[in-house]
Amino acid sequence: MQLPFGFLLAILIAYIAFRTHSLNKSGALAAMFTGTIIFGIGGWQWAILLLTFFITSSALSRAFKKRKQGLDEKFSKGHERDSGQVFGNGGIATIFAALHFFFPNELWPWLGFAAALAAVNADTWGTELGVLNPNPPRMITNLTKVVEKGTSGGISLIGTLASLAGAALIGILAAFLYPATDSISIGIIVTLAGLAGALFDSFLGATVQAMYYCPTDKKETEKYPIHTCGTPTVHIRGWKWLDNDWVNFSCGTFGVVMALITSVL
Ligand SMILES: [Zn+2]
Repeated sequence: MQLPFGFLLAILIAYIAFRTHSLNKSGALAAMFTGTIIFGIGGWQWAILLLTFFITSSALSRAFKKRKQGLDEKFSKGHERDSGQVFGNGGIATIFAALHFFFPNELWPWLGFAAALAAVNADTWGTELGVLNPNPPRMITNLTKVVEKGTSGGISLIGTLASLAGAALIGILAAFLYPATDSISIGIIVTLAGLAGALFDSFLGATVQAMYYCPTDKKETEKYPIHTCGTPTVHIRGWKWLDNDWVNFSCGTFGVVMALITSVL
């Protein structure tokens, strides 16, 4: 049984991520839990996919930290991820790794796992690299409406291409790591499901995600209950329970549903 090795690898990675400030304490504990299940039940192929997401998204957040400083207050959390973000990004993937334990000879747990990671990877790449777009983004629900950079629900050409690349990286790895006869289909399904998940994330950001307003800065923000400046924020739109973590969770879930539907067509 590889579970003890999975546990050790998860501890090691959570510790490194904690020491390098990619995860805070609660995030490191959550990563130990999800990592143990994914590495311990799935094995090395599953570990590679999870680490590809984790390492590239942490590196991108780090690389673009400076550039985003002005926008940072729009995002409710800094680049040190907590348990909510770990479960938001990795919860669905963990469930599919656990399902692999019960259905070890079936393809669909791997497909669901890969699609969930492709979606959150696409979302992270799109968010981080989208700031490189020379022009301000447009609302996904109304492409004629130009919005400020960092606005939830805003999309741009570079951001969308970055999402596609982030999904494709996971899709290509998912195809090569699984010993199947039809790896091209796996690659295409996972890539498109990942892109769909990231677009769904933007759609939620534009419509029902909880949004707040800081009266001092006169700015829209995801922060609640207190803004970076110390002022209590006021709820202006969206469902109060649907914070950024649940939006990420929905992004992964949407990717999974798309992948599982297209795989049986
Ligand atoms: Zn403020």
